[in-house]
Amino acid sequence: MNIGIIGGGWSGLAAAIELTRAGHRVTVYEAGKVPGGRARRLASDGLALDNGQHLLAGAYSETLRLMELVSPGSSASGFLRLPLALVYPEGVSIRAPRLPAPLHLAFALLFARGLTLAEKLSAIGFMQALKKIDFSPKDDLTVAEALAGQPRAACKYLWEPICVAALNTPIGQASFRVFAQVLKDALTGKAANSDFLIPARDLSALFPEPAAAWLEKSGGEVRMRTRITALQRSDAHWKALWQGGEAVHDRVIIATAPTHAIDLLSPLNDCRALVRQLGTIGYQPILTVYAEYPALPKFPAPLIGWVEPVPLFIFDMQASLGMANTIAVVASASGPHLEWDDVRWVEEIDARMRQAFGPLPPPRLIKRITEKRATFTCAPGMFRPAAKTPCTGLFLAGDYVDGPYPATLEGAVRSGVQCAETLLATP
Ligand SMILES: Cc1cc2nc3c(=O)[nH]c(=O)nc-3n(C[C@H](O)[C@H](O)[C@H](O)COP(=O)(O)OP(=O)(O)OC[C@H]3O[C@@H](n4cnc5c(N)ncnc54)[C@H](O)[C@@H]3O)c2cc1C
Repeated sequence: MNIGIIGGGWSGLAAAIELTRAGHRVTVYEAGKVPGGRARRLASDGLALDNGQHLLAGAYSETLRLMELVSPGSSASGFLRLPLALVYPEGVSIRAPRLPAPLHLAFALLFARGLTLAEKLSAIGFMQALKKIDFSPKDDLTVAEALAGQPRAACKYLWEPICVAALNTPIGQASFRVFAQVLKDALTGKAANSDFLIPARDLSALFPEPAAAWLEKSGGEVRMRTRITALQRSDAHWKALWQGGEAVHDRVIIATAPTHAIDLLSPLNDCRALVRQLGTIGYQPILTVYAEYPALPKFPAPLIGWVEPVPLFIFDMQASLGMANTIAVVASASGPHLEWDDVRWVEEIDARMRQAFGPLPPPRLIKRITEKRATFTCAPGMFRPAAKTPCTGLFLAGDYVDGPYPATLEGAVRSGVQCAETLLATP
């Protein structure tokens, strides 16, 4: 088949790889000038900064598999890999030792610094209760509801930061069912599943660019700077139109964020109900601030966190990308920090870094990026569409498409792989 894929983000590229491997001719259309979508390199005054600092997990098996396929060795060399470590300069630190599972987790919790024995035992009890139900809660509560009864410190330093980092949704709104799935994948199975993987390359160089090169080499085509403006049914085919061109495909996958999918689906009569449902999806922001110091002492871990007034992590970019004295500060989901201006951010970063390291000269803010629709709000019962649309021959891929994962790179890649399988299984 001749298959058109709209979107050169991680989901579209994953679908393109799998369909090419199955022997089909694939064309990927990407509106931007760099592949990667919401996980891509920005050209910024000669610095290869990303649109937002990302953190992956050892459990991202499909992402690592496809990275390895398009660029052998990159699933190891592309990251700074370290055992799970939640380190808070205000006095709490939870670090997994290099021990086989589940000992790594038991030790991380039992030997956590700054938590009382009762708090540690409650955290272990919470995991055991989840294990008993195979991490599949019957009712889809919010994470806050499910954590009722857990000691405040365990929520503040363990469960809430994991939830906000993985689901990018405040615990009062976040789906416990999806959270339980994340805990299962990251904290059970092999100990390496819980590893933190910090990109050691810019995000486009990590997977999207090698994936695009692999596709071109394997007979596919990746058309950058090509925004599809409309899709038209023509007999049993789909015509994709862009400014100054058009192409006919046997099948089309829309691998964009939901808002762009709505634009393309809206004119199609059979997709009216789907468009209405897609319109119910809510969004959460992610804010990244890049800053530089004249000099920095060694970090106690490549990322360190604070919990008040919002969970916030500071990444040491020297450790991951070799960018000396540079940090990336990440604040996930909605919160009061969205109102802070550059001056306030410098003050906030300065205060936290002094708490961690003692007196330091103030940082220079390099860039502040707010991705307003970074991910969907991962709420209980939210609508997530199937890969197959009501229009014959038209499919959806993307982090928001139905699946067990929240809006993450692994969720996007898995959706792309699953969409390719669905397309191939559909007559
Ligand atoms: C700031 C930030 C931080 C994040 N942090 C993490 C993290 O730490 N860990 C993690 O796992 N995940 C993280 N995520 C989430 C992760 O980046 C996304 O889940 C993932 O990139 C989504 O991929 P996708 O392919 O589904 O969609 P997208 O990345 O949105 O890809 C869609 C692509 O389609 C293109 N497009 C849209 N319309 C058209 C059109 N009409 N024609 C042609 N092309 C079109 C877009 O340009 C885009 O490239 C973060 C996201 C953001 C924004």
